[in-house]
Amino acid sequence: MVAIAQNLQAVRETIVAAAQAHGRAPGSVALLAVSKTFGPEAVLAAVRAGQRRFGENYLQEALDKMASVQAEMAGSLPGEVLEWHFIGPIQSNKTRQIAENFDWVHTVDRLKVAQRLSEQRPEHLPPLNVCIQVNISGEDSKSGVAPEACLALARAVACTPRLRLRGLMAIPAPADGLEQQRVPYRCLRELADRLRADGLELDTLSMGMSADMEAAIAEGATMVRVGTALFGRRVAAG
Ligand SMILES: *Cc1c(COP(=O)(O)O)cnc(C)c1O
Repeated sequence: MVAIAQNLQAVRETIVAAAQAHGRAPGSVALLAVSKTFGPEAVLAAVRAGQRRFGENYLQEALDKMASVQAEMAGSLPGEVLEWHFIGPIQSNKTRQIAENFDWVHTVDRLKVAQRLSEQRPEHLPPLNVCIQVNISGEDSKSGVAPEACLALARAVACTPRLRLRGLMAIPAPADGLEQQRVPYRCLRELADRLRADGLELDTLSMGMSADMEAAIAEGATMVRVGTALFGRRVAAG
C-alpha cells in the first residue's frame, strides 16, 4: 500500500511534466484512478494518498467495492466524497444501476443507452456526466461510435434531460513512440473541436492510459485514466 502512494506521486509528477513539456497548465489534466480488479483496500490506500476520482469497468465488482469503501470511509475519513466513473462497456440491461450509482459514464456509444441512462437517473441526483466513446482507430472489435456518426449522437445526447454531455473518450489501438501515439488523440481532439464549432459545450477529453499518458496530454487530454501505473499489473481478466 506504500507502493500505491508512491505510484500516485510518480503519476502526478508525470502528468505535471507532460503538461509543462507541451504548453499545458498542469492543473488542466485530471487523474482518474482505474481500480478495476483491485479490492477496496487499494482504493482506500489511494484515497489516503489524496486521490478522489476512481474508474471502474465491471458493474457488480464496482458496486461491491463502492459499498466496502464507503463503509470504511464513514469511520476513518468522514466527510470525504469520492467521484465514481463508469468506463466499461455498457449492456442496456445494466443502465439503471449505472445511472443510480455513478457520477460519470465515459462509454456512451449509442442513443438507446443514453436515453435509458437519462430516464433512469434518480431525481435527487445531479445530471449524470457523460462522455461519448469514439472508435477513433476504426477497429472492428472496439466499442465506440464511428467518428462520422459522432456529431449526430452528441447532439441527441445533449438534448436528453438528465445527462450532461461533457466530452469525448477513446481507447486507441496500442502504438509505439510518442509521435505514433499522438495521432489518434489528435483526431479525437479535432473531432471535439468540430462538435464545439457546432455549438456543443464540451470541456472533457478523456484519453490517455498508463502507456500513453504523455501523448494524450500533448494532444489536450483533460482526464487521463490510469490503472497499471498506480495499482500494478492486473492478474484477473480485464
Ligand atoms: C483498464 C482501463 C484503463 C487503464 O489502463 P492502464 O493501461 O492499466 O492504465 C483506462 N481506460 C479504460 C477504458 C480501461 O478499461
